[in-house]
Amino acid sequence: MECGEKIIGRSDKKFCNDGCRNAYNNQQNKDSSNLMRNINNKLRKNFRILSEQKFVDGKAKTTKQNLSINGFDFTYFTHFKVYKNGAEYRFVYDIGYKLLEDDWILIVKNE
Ligand SMILES: [Zn+2]
Repeated sequence: MECGEKIIGRSDKKFCNDGCRNAYNNQQNKDSSNLMRNINNKLRKNFRILSEQKFVDGKAKTTKQNLSINGFDFTYFTHFKVYKNGAEYRFVYDIGYKLLEDDWILIVKNE
């Protein structure tokens, strides 16, 4: 699976030696940690942009466009909450936001 060499031995053998197995596993781990690092960076950036808004009593109001201009990526958030009144919030860690009409967004710090 690493070097493509013909393998001699048991039929379930996947690697010709420990070096090839290690090289293969290291590459696999690297790919998944790159993916996670990229997503974590996006979440961190989203969190930073939300936290930089002007909060009054734990609430801030801005537009979707304003967040986008600053590089906010709406694809990435950590969790989703629906409150009893039906309001749906997406959270990036402990800061949530709700989409309002006309591109407005309400941002709340979850106490
Ligand atoms: Zn090999």
